Amino acid sequence: MKSIRILCIGVILFFTSVSALAQAMTLSVDATDAARNMIHSKLAIPVRPGPLTLFYPKWIPGEHSPTGPINDLVGLKLSADGKPIAWRRDDIEMFAFHCDIPQGVNVLDVTFDDLSQPESTASAKLARIKWNRLLVYVQGMSSDAVSVKASLKLPAGWHFASALPITSERNGELQFKEVSLTQLVDSPAIIGANFRKFPLSSTGTMHEMDTMADSTAALDLKPETLTGLKSMVQEAYALFGARHYRNYQFLVTLSDHGGSEGLEHHESSEDGVGEKAFSEELELLDFAELMGHEYAHSWNGKYRRPAGLATPDFDQPMKGELLWVYEGLTQYLGKVLPARSGLWSAEDFREAMAAVAAEMENQTGRQWRPLVDTAIDVQWSYPSPRAWMNYRRRVDYYDEGSLIWLDADVLIRTRSNGKLSLDDFCKRFHGGQDTAPMVKPYTFDDVVNTLNEVTPYDWRSFLNTRVNEVAPHAPLAGITNGGWKLVYTDKPNTEVRIADHLRKSVDLSYSVGMLLKEDGSVMDVNPELAAFKAGIAPGMKIISVNGRTWSIDVVHEAVASSRTSMKPIEFVVENGSFQETYKVNYHGGERYPHLERDNTKPDVLSNVIKSRAR
Ligand SMILES: [Zn+2]
Repeated sequence: MKSIRILCIGVILFFTSVSALAQAMTLSVDATDAARNMIHSKLAIPVRPGPLTLFYPKWIPGEHSPTGPINDLVGLKLSADGKPIAWRRDDIEMFAFHCDIPQGVNVLDVTFDDLSQPESTASAKLARIKWNRLLVYVQGMSSDAVSVKASLKLPAGWHFASALPITSERNGELQFKEVSLTQLVDSPAIIGANFRKFPLSSTGTMHEMDTMADSTAALDLKPETLTGLKSMVQEAYALFGARHYRNYQFLVTLSDHGGSEGLEHHESSEDGVGEKAFSEELELLDFAELMGHEYAHSWNGKYRRPAGLATPDFDQPMKGELLWVYEGLTQYLGKVLPARSGLWSAEDFREAMAAVAAEMENQTGRQWRPLVDTAIDVQWSYPSPRAWMNYRRRVDYYDEGSLIWLDADVLIRTRSNGKLSLDDFCKRFHGGQDTAPMVKPYTFDDVVNTLNEVTPYDWRSFLNTRVNEVAPHAPLAGITNGGWKLVYTDKPNTEVRIADHLRKSVDLSYSVGMLLKEDGSVMDVNPELAAFKAGIAPGMKIISVNGRTWSIDVVHEAVASSRTSMKPIEFVVENGSFQETYKVNYHGGERYPHLERDNTKPDVLSNVIKSRAR
């Protein structure tokens, strides 16, 4: 019933909109209150008399879900020629607002405020301007067919960066070139008090990193990081063989309060990291991966997009079944590119792959749901709770997807005696001629066929068994056939240290089978390992370990000494207002994943991360 209703509206409004198209919708954004998470929006929308439905963008490209922040739209007022027009929200579709346009009216004025959640898009010194949060459009029109002329007023003294072309700039007010609604939403801006621009290419296509930070000190970039980022631009071109953007801008915000972000666009990416991302060793490694990931998306995700995710507007639901390509291959390239560019060492790359391999292999949820189900379920797997995540499985199409693509890469390299690689797939699939931004949708068959063009093999079965079937073990053949073994030692894994640092956690997943917060709260347990078997569950909080008050050092010491102790580890745990003692029968010491060289096989893994551009 619902789809028929929307289809009808779409057809009717399409005809309404053809003449409306002659005129662009204008969007005036006042961001002078951005530091207090409030942005004012004013629209003038060409309309015709009669019933009209306005739509607030719901399905956001790159988020693959109905995540438009409708709760943040407040103060909505419609008027025409200064006279108010009443609106009513749709009873079923909460993102749609119905109204009646009086005779003689051809422009509808709309005003509202966007109130973002604290710590989500802005800090006191910077903000991300996401146009989709700041507009409504006539429902039923394709976003390619809607023309928008936008302007933006900045807080006093703040700077601006975006891939959106500017026509004029005066007194902190920017006027932009008229573009399609598609391009507008795909061209967010960052604004802030402290700004620095880093050119990443000197000739030809312009590449730059634009950075806004909470402090000027945060903008100090190590020369070797800048060199690595410039190399990454070259490595990506060498990998794909073509570009599908006119210019490219990394829009980086450095703040511990402005919200973390990673969102891809054709000609830019939003990269929200902590204030110390350029200086702190672990955060810098994580930053390099984020940059590689979001950049690779310009090809894999924006230019080539699964047919189910290539929707014509922000209203049609997206289908996520091919996210193991969209995100999985990007997750793989997001590790390969920093390693080829020198932003990561070969050891950093191996530590990252080891962490992914161990996490996926130990995911107990893999025993009940195939990988594809985590992608189909994307509307719910993204916001899935942290508690019991090991049993639920969350967005595994990212990390397990990356293992599948490593597997395919090593297979192509081995079968072609090192002459071909996954780079050849990427060149065929994502390369071709240099073009301006465009979308070329694909299906599962297109992926299989292109793999077959590179190296004939039963790729359909290869992918089906790894993606569409319940697989008790993670696809680790890329590692083992690549000449390495997944092993566990008491030495902490770099990637695990990064994750612990960023989420303030203590990861004991591969020893007692628990992921803890720094205060002893249990975030997750592995139902097959000792802590769960002793009775511990997410939501509980550890008070003491072996008779000593909880601390990170105390728990590490207890796990480490379990190897030589005959007694179980004793945890006093708080569950609501009750306390109980749990005896965890574990004697394996500290365990963290690493890759160890297998000298019986050639080292293909090291070839994967060899520079292509140098
Ligand atoms: Zn991604």
